[in-house]
Amino acid sequence: MSDLRELYQDLIKDHSKKPRNFRVLAGNARKVEGYNPLCGDRFTVFLELDGDVVKDVAFQGTGCAISTASASMMTQALKGKKRSEAQELFQRFHHLLTGAASEQEEAELGKLAVFSGVRKFPVRVKCATLAWHTLRAALEGDQQTVSTE
Ligand code: ZN
Repeated sequence: MSDLRELYQDLIKDHSKKPRNFRVLAGNARKVEGYNPLCGDRFTVFLELDGDVVKDVAFQGTGCAISTASASMMTQALKGKKRSEAQELFQRFHHLLTGAASEQEEAELGKLAVFSGVRKFPVRVKCATLAWHTLRAALEGDQQTVSTE
């Protein structure tokens, strides 16, 4: 079990140091800002839809290791997903962090289950979910700034 925990920590460290899809999407990509005043995490999430499919998703901004790694892994997990699948993933991830996820849901999250340890630290839950709340607003076409408060 401790090996697994180390692996998970490595995964978060890796993604926070070298975030994936850390770039701007130009053109007609949707763009939503997210802010977590408790920690100071501030991201802009870019979303490009092709019909009902997430064609591309990227982010920019600054945040702590948890929020950055979560945003990075989110972009990887969502690319190519249908809008409904993206919403389902958001639900599962939210369940994971609120302790409401079933074993099956955790299994379906794959690598994202690494964030299960965060639920012991309520302040950190907002860090881990910031990019996700921001992305959901983008999916729903809301262009306002999302705040975790
Ligand atoms: Zn944070």
